[in-house]
Amino acid sequence: MKAHDGMYIDGEWRPAAGPDVIEVVNPVDEQVVGRVPAGTAEDVDAAVRAARAALPAWAATGPAERAARLAALRDVLTARKGEIAETVTAELGSPLKFSQAVHAAVPIAVAGSYAELAATYAFEEKVGNSTVFHEPIGVVGAITPWNYPLHQIVAKVAPALAAGCTVVVKPAEDTPLVAQLFAEAVHEAGVPAGVFNLVTGLGPVAGQALAEHPGVDLVSFTGSTAVGRQIGATASAAVKKVALELGGKSANVILPSADLARAVNVGVANVMSNSGRTCSAWTRMLVHREQYDEAVELAAAAAAKYGDRIGPVVNAKQRERVRSYIEKGVAEGARLVAGGSESPREQGYFVSPTVFADVTPDMTIAQEEIFGPVLSILRYEDEEDALRIANGTVYGLAGVVWRAPRPGRTPTTYQLAASTAAASTVPGRYA
Ligand code: NAD
Repeated sequence: MKAHDGMYIDGEWRPAAGPDVIEVVNPVDEQVVGRVPAGTAEDVDAAVRAARAALPAWAATGPAERAARLAALRDVLTARKGEIAETVTAELGSPLKFSQAVHAAVPIAVAGSYAELAATYAFEEKVGNSTVFHEPIGVVGAITPWNYPLHQIVAKVAPALAAGCTVVVKPAEDTPLVAQLFAEAVHEAGVPAGVFNLVTGLGPVAGQALAEHPGVDLVSFTGSTAVGRQIGATASAAVKKVALELGGKSANVILPSADLARAVNVGVANVMSNSGRTCSAWTRMLVHREQYDEAVELAAAAAAKYGDRIGPVVNAKQRERVRSYIEKGVAEGARLVAGGSESPREQGYFVSPTVFADVTPDMTIAQEEIFGPVLSILRYEDEEDALRIANGTVYGLAGVVWRAPRPGRTPTTYQLAASTAAASTVPGRYA
């Protein structure tokens, strides 16, 4: 895989300040597919300075010019769609078709939607006798996870650029290659030097330096709750703005009136998709006691069909983490009905699609985010009970309820809890 040995700063690839490198490993065959520099505080400082210097001119460009650059970025990404999919497959291990349909197509669509928004957004608004001006916050420090590597970057960078902010991105250390490809695309799209900068590196080194840097006005972080908490504390100590998108343990409540087979099959597919590496995955399935046995049977059969086609998890540490949760589930008395902690292949960081029955709300596998292909099925007595169980974790990222469609309405699923920073760290609110 193509890899740059420098940082993209101020419109060019510059040598890194330090000698350390990160090896990027393909989780399917455990082979090194690229090496990128491990950035230091010095690299971060250079990138933030470039972003600050570029800010006044970029903030002063009209929305039409910013929309044109974002549309150009969408076009370059579209032209390089195949390469994006291959790169994500090499560093994340996702099956190529999934990389094409999701890891490449979704961020391209997101870039396009912000190009449109930049052109139409009311940056100036009349409110009574006053005029409200929506101004850019300034320099944004974006720290992203590996699970949807390009999407996570585009979902932060595109709105920031549309608003007139400049950006420094520190991508996840497991998936820096697609971040470098994105930097090339930004360059090709004619975004002025310094408006977008990329520093690859380790979280506690480059990530922390970015979160702490006094030249950053807003830290936008997506990742684990533990690191998010730390970044929130750092940002508040420095009195800077912070946006946190954190972990999840979302409930999928199936009411007795729903089409059980459809709800269970879609629910299992949702959890297994991207090998369970989705923050908003419906990892707790809540089923009425009278339908429970049937639901468990359906879920076990659905999970077994996936085999190892879902792809591996991202690295050896993550595989061990997922396995230890599976072992904890067994030890705490849950009933394994599909999968298990044994790896389905000798090579690669694979975990079998796993389903647990007889899970009670207090069990670790019902409370903590596993971030792997593991579904917990819980039993409820009535709607009150389902609501209590759904709200009974520290997470509140997303949620779904299935019921019979109202006459004349198309069947649908409902998102119940807002996926906001606050909602992802406080107890969920399903009502
Ligand atoms: P992570 O928190 O380990 O890492 C995320 C990013 O933070 C990486 O770039 C990492 O290098 C960096 N980082 C790590 N330590 C840091 C530190 N001390 N200071 C600054 N930066 C640091 O998370 P991950 O394992 O990459 O991603 C998985 C997590 O992300 C899961 O918990 C998942 O739920 C969450 N996630 C949430 C959303 C959402 O929208 N809420 C979306 C995707 C993933």
